[in-house]
Amino acid sequence: MTSDPDPSKTNVAPERPEYVVVIHGGAGTIRKDRMTEELEEKIRTALDAALLKGESVLKAGGSAMDAVSETIMILENSPYFNAGKGAVFTNAGTNELDASIMHGETLNAGAVGGVKTVKNPILAARAVLENSPHVMLSGEGADLFAKEQGLELVDQKYFYTEQRWKALQNILQKENVTTGDLLESPRADYKYGTVGCAVLDKDGNLVAGTSTGGMTNKRWGRIGDSPIIGAGTYANNKTCALSSTGHGEFFIRHAVAYNISARMEHGGADFQSAADAVINEELVKAGGSGGVIGVDHLGNVAMPFNTAGMYRGYLKSTGEKYIGMYKE
Ligand code: ASP
Repeated sequence: MTSDPDPSKTNVAPERPEYVVVIHGGAGTIRKDRMTEELEEKIRTALDAALLKGESVLKAGGSAMDAVSETIMILENSPYFNAGKGAVFTNAGTNELDASIMHGETLNAGAVGGVKTVKNPILAARAVLENSPHVMLSGEGADLFAKEQGLELVDQKYFYTEQRWKALQNILQKENVTTGDLLESPRADYKYGTVGCAVLDKDGNLVAGTSTGGMTNKRWGRIGDSPIIGAGTYANNKTCALSSTGHGEFFIRHAVAYNISARMEHGGADFQSAADAVINEELVKAGGSGGVIGVDHLGNVAMPFNTAGMYRGYLKSTGEKYIGMYKE
């Protein structure tokens, strides 16, 4: 008898892959006609390097925590994403970074908001999880904690990139003095570029992490969804691990990452339907743009987004691999 390659046509559950790594590099007005070939190539190369880093950790039997932190560090160290090195500028011309990480077995989580000197904010979030009794630290206190933890600190100059500086100048020129208009602007592309990673490791543990510079021209210490557990990041071994990207205010109001997990845990939804319902129905109705990436406890990947594009990719121990940018 020949075996049927379509698992949905048999009663045998498809085998869970040994490991899975899924990433995003932000969602937004990412369109082929606005992209140069050169930039596309650079972004693809960075996404590929991040996936390969995650795989090398997981293949060697490393933990999901290590895989997520090391994968995100690759993207934080790249100037092409709005996290770490490529972080966007605040209204005051500074850089304030947010990050979070969560472990799906213990439901332990760590987050930092508005750090200014930490080279890799994902490591600061992880240090909060592992070495503090807290879940979230913010501002100067978070920078101080990172220093006490021996993490690499940098001068704010490190975060300077010409394209992010120009993006701020553009917005400042166009800005209506009455605040608030900016966040509703249809020219949404300046908002995006956050990075995230979700992993299933060989032990069946799920971990997710997210890192961002937030939104260009943010002020008043604005913090988005990325460091908020349940909005920007969530992981639960019973359901899935998720990282969000998009207009953070909406992701906080709709508790996007937890919302997806809860639909699975309490509503019996499968991963893809739960993720689609939140991103392509609930958020769309509310006017919130963005997407999520994630992996469930069976190794299924979901990457829905309601924007023109989302930098995204995944890789499974089975050899399956995908990198995409635009809507298909
Ligand atoms: N969600 C992030 C924020 O609102 C931005 C992004 O994903 O690009 O801070």
